[in-house]
Amino acid sequence: MRIDVITIFPDYIAPLGLSLVGKAIDAGTIELRVHDLRAFTRDRHHTVDDTPYGGGPGMVMKPEPWGEALDQILGSDPIQARPRLVVPTPSGRPFTQSVAQEYAADDWLIFACGRYEGIDSRVVEHYRNSTTVDEVSVGDYVLAGGEAAVLVMVEAAARLLPGVLGNPVSVVDDSFAPGAMESLLEGPVYTKPPEWRGQQVPEILLSGDHGKIAAWRREQAVRRTAAMRPDLLE
Ligand code: SAM
Repeated sequence: MRIDVITIFPDYIAPLGLSLVGKAIDAGTIELRVHDLRAFTRDRHHTVDDTPYGGGPGMVMKPEPWGEALDQILGSDPIQARPRLVVPTPSGRPFTQSVAQEYAADDWLIFACGRYEGIDSRVVEHYRNSTTVDEVSVGDYVLAGGEAAVLVMVEAAARLLPGVLGNPVSVVDDSFAPGAMESLLEGPVYTKPPEWRGQQVPEILLSGDHGKIAAWRREQAVRRTAAMRPDLLE
């Protein structure tokens, strides 16, 4: 999978070089290219923002550097593949596990990290004509920029790629995993020692009875979902 990230803070994306995603990059499963938006400006000050039309507080990202950056990146693929252009924004569709699965099935993702009050809206409209554009939100809160959202989305998608997780069965039991446990949160998990600071690991988990353990886990998942996210049970 190829991933391009356009940002005014390329260093912000460095954590993707660590852990699971970093290993996937080293193994060649993911090809990550990070681009500095300011490299696509033409003025002496490398300006990427300007005041909003119609007035109001804050600045808006200018369309020209985005156009130059996206044209160059889109044109860099010799077989003219159609990537998905992901634009993080609090006003986008919610990023969920099923969106992470959609992304994991893609060959090429381009992430456009906004800053200030966001990117001039004509940029998204322009690229809708030539590629799939996905405006997505990582939650009902406002970040200072799209970079943290990109770290979240790339990690969620990358761990679903074949060979990225040491044990691929892990994703089956995850909260929000599709299948029997879909829309249930994962229940409590334990490891050794069997007793820690006076608390015992639930007896059933030491029983070796896989049927009873599975039933117990499901019951715990339902309890936790009812307590933390009753909306999911509805
Ligand atoms: N004025 C914008 C609004 O209210 O929709 C918020 C702009 S925010 C300060 C700057 C950038 O942070 C956005 O363009 C987007 O890239 C990113 N961002 C902020 N919150 C986000 C969220 N919940 N999900 C995804 N991206 C977010």
